[in-house]
Amino acid sequence: MILSKAHYDDILNHARAAFPEECCGLIVGHTDCVERLLPSNNISKGDKTKTFEIDPAVRFQLIRETGERSMMGFYHSHPNGVPFPSDTDKAMVYEPELIWVIATLDEIKAFRFLKTKQDFEEIPIQVKL
Ligand SMILES: [Zn+2]
Repeated sequence: MILSKAHYDDILNHARAAFPEECCGLIVGHTDCVERLLPSNNISKGDKTKTFEIDPAVRFQLIRETGERSMMGFYHSHPNGVPFPSDTDKAMVYEPELIWVIATLDEIKAFRFLKTKQDFEEIPIQVKL
């Protein structure tokens, strides 16, 4: 996945601003190239330091503007954790074709869910200046 330095920093800054809660947002782009981030409020009704839910209004907005095919995936943060999918994340895979980007306060990793393995596989992030 190709991510600009500006988008990389935007995700980290969102994670830091939302601390100690998880932040989240949509990732928009083509093939492997991220073109835009759409930050969302975390609307989880659970403990927001451990869970997240993207506001459906953000996704509807994207569909209205550009159609759903431009959605590559989404990001969320693990404010006190590691940048790898948690068991909660694994239980939340409804759309296996989407990329999961997970941030701590200083690191970002990307994953794809493999249906055949029923597990996440890390995909490399290339940061462009
Ligand atoms: Zn998570």
